[in-house]
Amino acid sequence: MAEMGKCSKCDSDAIIFLHYCERSLCADHFLRMFDKRFRSTVREFRMISKGDRVAVGLSGGKDSTVLLQCLHELSKDLPMELVAITVDEGISGYRDATLRIAKKQAKKLGIEHEVVSFRKEIGKPLDFIIKKHGGLPCSWCGVFRRGLLSRAAKRLDADKLAMGHNLDDMAQTVLMNILRNEPSRTDRLLAPAKHPDFVRRIRPLLRTPEKETAVYAMVRGMDMSYKECPYAQSAFRQSVRRQLNEMEELHPGTKYKVLGSFLSGGKAPEERRFEACSSCGEPGSSALCKFCELSAKVK
Ligand code: SF4
Repeated sequence: MAEMGKCSKCDSDAIIFLHYCERSLCADHFLRMFDKRFRSTVREFRMISKGDRVAVGLSGGKDSTVLLQCLHELSKDLPMELVAITVDEGISGYRDATLRIAKKQAKKLGIEHEVVSFRKEIGKPLDFIIKKHGGLPCSWCGVFRRGLLSRAAKRLDADKLAMGHNLDDMAQTVLMNILRNEPSRTDRLLAPAKHPDFVRRIRPLLRTPEKETAVYAMVRGMDMSYKECPYAQSAFRQSVRRQLNEMEELHPGTKYKVLGSFLSGGKAPEERRFEACSSCGEPGSSALCKFCELSAKVK
């Protein structure tokens, strides 16, 4: 393994070694590289247009907090209006801390911030739902979180909904969909949404490794919580995550290759087809959307 030593670009001490490209970088060059990659990803996928109102899913974890910061900085060159949305699932001992950070960060940057909760919108917090109905926590939570974020983004009149998914999340999702034989879910990741009621999701950190968002946050002295959701360990994603991390350790660049195979091979369809949910009218892929199906069980 290469020593960190000096920065590959200058004489300063390196703070990070990037195995996938065999480069050591000092704090200054790391921040420059991070920002350049962020901006080129936004450009490459035409994620944001001048004047867009961009809603940001802000959990208060490192990825979404870094995303908000980077978008705030980008907005100085590419004018856009930002609004942050935090979903409070009702996970005791976890969400309160990240919610505090999300509120503080939005306030610090002067960004409008809206909090939506499972308790108010679904009727019960996630802890209660799991206790009463059982099942995999992430299966309930994922559907409700996505649904509430989309609805809030629409209510707030957003043109785009920015998510903090990083390279690790993307590579995990691609592999999970292969292992579950659900290729259509992968196609949805980048497919442009043509339905007038659908706020297009964008993922400006999709080329950024998870470890680098943590380093970015540390170098910038950002306040954030590194706590993991207590339900996360039960997820199928965790086992895929472990496998991918092992592969990355043995074969640096694996995560980029998984993402690359999806971007080059998994051509997104030009237009996604939607039908309106018979209960709430939101666009979905079946007559009754998953959000309404699960909400009915809770209620
Ligand atoms: Fe929800 Fe699962 Fe994420 Fe926890 S790990 S916040 S339960 S989706």
